Amino acid sequence: MRLVLLGPPGIGKGTQARRLQQEYGWTAIATGDLLREAMANNTPLGEQARAYVQRGELVPDELVNRMVFERLQSLESFILDGYPRNLSQAQVLDAFLRERHQPLHAVLAFELDDEQIVQRLSGRRVCPQCGAIYHIVANPSRAGNRCERCGTTLITREDDHPDTIRRRLTVYREQTEPLITYYEQRSLLQRVDASGDPETVYQRVLHALSIQPDSPPR
Ligand code: AMP
Repeated sequence: MRLVLLGPPGIGKGTQARRLQQEYGWTAIATGDLLREAMANNTPLGEQARAYVQRGELVPDELVNRMVFERLQSLESFILDGYPRNLSQAQVLDAFLRERHQPLHAVLAFELDDEQIVQRLSGRRVCPQCGAIYHIVANPSRAGNRCERCGTTLITREDDHPDTIRRRLTVYREQTEPLITYYEQRSLLQRVDASGDPETVYQRVLHALSIQPDSPPR
């Protein structure tokens, strides 16, 4: 399965991508995670990306494209979470996949009203070690302020603060949302209601992909 997850920041794409990876073995590629990892390791890519990420702006296309294609080289199945983020990235991705005769199977567009998105983002806590994602109200860690998987102290992402959240939502509306029409025109788009708990949304995701729960991986 080759899948793209679209939707504003904080809507739960990462949570769903991780679940699909766990259940079906499709590799989830989250460009935001890769960039944060590069920043934490002070790599040249991390240094170039840092200022953009901190401002809630998109990192320049050529940096992100290169980073994604390096990962895609060796994969037949993948879930892209947070990529493409604008029309130019979508076109370059199309060309890359066309050349490899590996077309996308589907694009899921997650939808939720802005108020709930801001609530989700401001209550989000992440594990800086293993990447697990929690929410202080909707999905708290059973280990309090520590990750229930690896015990690391949870953090609020630097760009999950109110000013940056607003900027990221504007960037989404202006640059990423047009991709909904782009993929709709290519008959790849499925809309997914992202309200409710992660399990409810996951069932909608399976339905959108025409997968029966408990069916074997494709
Ligand atoms: P995310 O974790 O997906 O919310 O991404 C966090 C930040 O990483 C974004 O606000 C951007 O600064 C940067 N980023 C992630 N994916 C992309 C992308 N496809 N293109 C440009 N910048 C990106």
